[in-house]
Amino acid sequence: MSNTTPLQQVVIVGGGVIGSAIAYFLASHPSFGGNITVIERDPTYAQASSALSASSIRQQFSQPVNIAASQFGIGFLRNIKEHLAVDGDVPDIGLTERGYLYLATETGAATLRENHSTQRAHGVDVALLTPAEAQQRFPWLQVDDLALASLGLSGEGWFDGYGLLMAFKQKARSLGVQYVKAEATGFAHSNGRVSAVTLQGGAQLPCDWAVNAAGAWARPLLAGTGLDLPVYGRRRCVYAFASPAKTPGCPLVIDPSGLWFRPEGDLWICGLPPAQDHNDVPLEVDYDLFDQAWLTLANRVPGFEAVRMQRAWAGYYEYNTHDHNALLGPHPHLPNLLLANGFSGHGLQQSPAVGRGLAEWMAEGAYTSLDLSPLAAQRLVEGRTLLEKNVI
Ligand SMILES: Cc1cc2nc3c(=O)[nH]c(=O)nc-3n(C[C@H](O)[C@H](O)[C@H](O)COP(=O)(O)OP(=O)(O)OC[C@H]3O[C@@H](n4cnc5c(N)ncnc54)[C@H](O)[C@@H]3O)c2cc1C
Repeated sequence: MSNTTPLQQVVIVGGGVIGSAIAYFLASHPSFGGNITVIERDPTYAQASSALSASSIRQQFSQPVNIAASQFGIGFLRNIKEHLAVDGDVPDIGLTERGYLYLATETGAATLRENHSTQRAHGVDVALLTPAEAQQRFPWLQVDDLALASLGLSGEGWFDGYGLLMAFKQKARSLGVQYVKAEATGFAHSNGRVSAVTLQGGAQLPCDWAVNAAGAWARPLLAGTGLDLPVYGRRRCVYAFASPAKTPGCPLVIDPSGLWFRPEGDLWICGLPPAQDHNDVPLEVDYDLFDQAWLTLANRVPGFEAVRMQRAWAGYYEYNTHDHNALLGPHPHLPNLLLANGFSGHGLQQSPAVGRGLAEWMAEGAYTSLDLSPLAAQRLVEGRTLLEKNVI
């Protein structure tokens, strides 16, 4: 007797890193028997967050479920060659593990300490540093205004995010997943179940399971399903700059102002949240914001007084305005419609854990390795929040 489930039709809307990770994990799940189709309207990924990201991974979260997701994520990224090679074609995502360095003034020190004890309790390799200790490690850093710093000692760094997306996609295709270039318009449903994904032009793709992995565009797809998903595209700009400064051993630094920077090849990249956030503004670079960034950069690293911007780009955080965390798993009213939305700036690093989790949900009916249920979208209808304090 076979222990596989009956032939299932799965349609995933969105072929970014999240949709492709789900497709890969499901196609390789031993208990899954069925067909997987990924609907992606733009195979060039011109506006997809997965192609416009800062592509970094950290363990320094305030929520245990996010810590656990990144713990699985870093292990997966370290062994990506084993997981995602296709016919001897071995992906290289250039994982560089140099840590995150969170900096706090007196105002933020208590939160850093609180996060530290949560992180230590969950096995994160992280150390609190006094300003003097931080400066000893990183002599190029200005620490006069600081009260505390928190440095990830392992398991944190950056990688090629587009490379990860491509590796998931190629592996998924090699396992039989079909990518279709089309625009989805919504989910046809009756009697509490989704029966098909509807496409522009009126075609319908029947399905047993549908997945909404449409990134910053997930919300309008749910119109008519009784859920107003609080996920919006919030523009974030990344600036790549050159400087004669030397910053040996530079981790990804998060300034108390919210500005972050890290090395990228011979350059550095940086970003900061805008003073006023608006939903779904066009993806144009805000060059004025770099002037503001530069003031903070030069204050934090005196060598950055001389910088020259080389290029810049803008992408969307698929921002969950409810509580800045992923909204995952069954739609509260349509259990065979799975959501994978609202990652709010940490979706790339969570893609392995999310892919594995939703694959288990479809193939086994439950999260069997890592319990992702704290991220359930059900919390929206119950009015609960799962607030992530460490949003960059
Ligand atoms: C500037 C910036 C920095 C970031 N830094 C980090 C970081 O350091 N670490 C980290 O983990 N994360 C980071 N993120 C977040 C991360 O990039 C995202 O969370 C992640 O890429 C989301 O992946 P996704 O597949 O859900 O969305 P996307 O990559 O946007 O993919 C969604 C896809 O769905 C398609 N689509 C949408 N609607 C439809 C439709 N109706 N029909 C068909 N196709 C559709 C789109 O074309 C798109 O390709 C950053 C994001 C930005 C913008």
